[in-house]
Amino acid sequence: MTYITNEHLLLRDAPKDKFYPPAQCRMFYHPLYTHFEHIDSFPGEEDTMSTAASEIALTGAAEKYGVLDMPDLSYTPELAKATQADYERVSSVVPPIEWPAFAPYVSAINELKKKRNAVILAHNYMTPEIFHCIADFMGDSLQLAKEAANTEAEIIVQCGVHFMAETSKLLNPDKTVLIPDMKAGCSLADSTTAADVRALREAYPGVPVVTYVNTSAEVKAECDICCTSSNAVKIVESLGVPKVIFLPDEYLAKYVASQTDVEIIAWKGHCIVHERFTPEELRQAREADPGLKIIAHPECPPDVLAEADFTGSTSGMINWVKTNQPPKVMMVTECSMSDNVAVETPGVEFIRPCNLCPYMKRITLPKILDSLVYMKDEVTVDSAVAERARRAVEAMVALKT
Ligand code: SF4
Repeated sequence: MTYITNEHLLLRDAPKDKFYPPAQCRMFYHPLYTHFEHIDSFPGEEDTMSTAASEIALTGAAEKYGVLDMPDLSYTPELAKATQADYERVSSVVPPIEWPAFAPYVSAINELKKKRNAVILAHNYMTPEIFHCIADFMGDSLQLAKEAANTEAEIIVQCGVHFMAETSKLLNPDKTVLIPDMKAGCSLADSTTAADVRALREAYPGVPVVTYVNTSAEVKAECDICCTSSNAVKIVESLGVPKVIFLPDEYLAKYVASQTDVEIIAWKGHCIVHERFTPEELRQAREADPGLKIIAHPECPPDVLAEADFTGSTSGMINWVKTNQPPKVMMVTECSMSDNVAVETPGVEFIRPCNLCPYMKRITLPKILDSLVYMKDEVTVDSAVAERARRAVEAMVALKT
């Protein structure tokens, strides 16, 4: 595997300043906390969680579809009864004391999405009250990209991060795509620019560029084909060439290189969630419980993957747990996914290493409700960029991997 060290290529570290150690991480990003506290009490953050109409700037989508009245958000005995089935679905991971805070939003969002002819796409890293109570489609980046392409709805609310909403827009140029928080970014997507890709093409003439979907539309527009963590190896091999440039995740690139004979030229982007896991913490967990199964996402460093019993994408990890039904498992990935899988696998005990994604955790029920009431924030992609980026995404989807 070739590792890029060319000095003329500027390698930038992923931003780490908005990440917190585990104990704080749980506290800051707990959904109940984020529903009721202004996020500007977080170090270095400026945003608010308010649903106040006076703070909402009207978007083009609001002008097109109109703004609705904010629904009543009281928790009444009638509402408790009406949302009982929703709560029962998540009762193993959402304590009863939290439900009165979530239920009014769950009910209002489910009503409003019908009124708006909208669908909600939720990534596996959403918290369970979002993932299991309001989403129409759930899954990893590839599944959501495909669902976005098939949906009949006029409006897509992307409960995930910005590059996912852009991907939905690329595949659905005539639909309105909303993201509940425009600041829901991604350290991997931030690690590479279109100029970086052009510089790489100059440095490696004729070598095709494969980019992970965790990239901006501008970066996708510069590449030949996209991939996800579940299909990366197949996509690389589908090109039938001896060498590819693979962006932006260094660790996923190393994992792909370990699974194929194709030479991989890697970039140095990292996921700030997965890069924080260490082999020591996995070893300690296994020593504490020798029967524990450990499964890890390929965005983790290689020495972490070496400690795992299985390496796979988010969908690969979910399938592994459902198929193998281990008595006890540690999913080495974003922590909310364990909660979401636990709901569907009651016989499995989950050991949760607490790494939450600060970008994913910006998506909360109040912000999703704001999206549907005020039609915000609309995600658009410049048409010239979109046309080229779409080709790369459609090339991936067409491979049916
Ligand atoms: S978990 Fe990592 S890759 Fe996924 S959105 Fe967060 S920072 Fe990006």
